Amino acid sequence: MMSGAYAASLLQPTLFPKTADDLTFTQNVALQSAGYEPWESIYDPETGRCISGCLYPGITLADELRINQQNTTVAAQQLIQYVQNYPERLNSDQFNHILNILRNQALLDEYADVLAQYVPQIVSEENQNNNNQNTANEYLEIISDYAANLAEQQNGNANYPQPPRRECWPNSQEIPIGQDLPFGEPLKNKPRISSSYGGRIHPVTGQPSGHNGIDFSVPVGTDVFSPASGKVAAVWQDDTCGKGLRIKHSNNYETVYCHLSRVLVEQNENVQAGCGVAKSGNTGRSTGAHLHYAIKFNGNYINPTSWLGRNQD
Ligand SMILES: [Zn+2]
Repeated sequence: MMSGAYAASLLQPTLFPKTADDLTFTQNVALQSAGYEPWESIYDPETGRCISGCLYPGITLADELRINQQNTTVAAQQLIQYVQNYPERLNSDQFNHILNILRNQALLDEYADVLAQYVPQIVSEENQNNNNQNTANEYLEIISDYAANLAEQQNGNANYPQPPRRECWPNSQEIPIGQDLPFGEPLKNKPRISSSYGGRIHPVTGQPSGHNGIDFSVPVGTDVFSPASGKVAAVWQDDTCGKGLRIKHSNNYETVYCHLSRVLVEQNENVQAGCGVAKSGNTGRSTGAHLHYAIKFNGNYINPTSWLGRNQD
């Protein structure tokens, strides 16, 4: 635990660190024990401009969040192109994820007509698999009715199919075999999110800071799964991320994992969706065991929240 003296000194604007290098070891420990990750962007309280861990030097938090939102919107729009380019790959599970993401990004109305074309295909597939998530009319209602809560219907469906067996271990049955876009979660059983994506008021400094991913609170050694098939782009270790892993997926998506205790895959290795790729940990600058998970699209971090497929309050 940090002492009150350090917390107080960090709250003094004159002592506010101007760069990450200005942080003393003790200050770092104090920040970390408060749940802060040093690569979060930090903003000067007077000018409002980024002074440490910046996406772009000197950017304001408002601009950073606006740019990230633009990138998130582009990623969601590209899902429509994915559907149109690869209709044969479109299955019920993907379709429901895409509906959910577009709804959360306030884009569902815009693409209602495009999606409606695929409803017969999805309903027919669900009938064949005895997995009736929605009737055609219900889908069309969801597409036209912005307020419908699809995720709840999914969670309440006892007939939600178990994917067939997959030849790897660890193996997450929660992720469909062959999924090629990073939908769903990299951990089983929807663990608690300890720090969400985006801007927040830093608990110690009281200043705004940014966070490019989502932190899941899980014990050291928890299985981490790739939510999509892909190829290992990087395995590394540094002071902040600790043991890190980046996987490249189709359609210009990448997923990033930090603070790992073990990485189970090697650079350039092909990975299957739902196969274990790492064990979570507490390496790098981390205050407690957790997984930092981020999604990049076209090289830019996006807001991964909708991609998880959780109900959003
Ligand atoms: Zn994080």
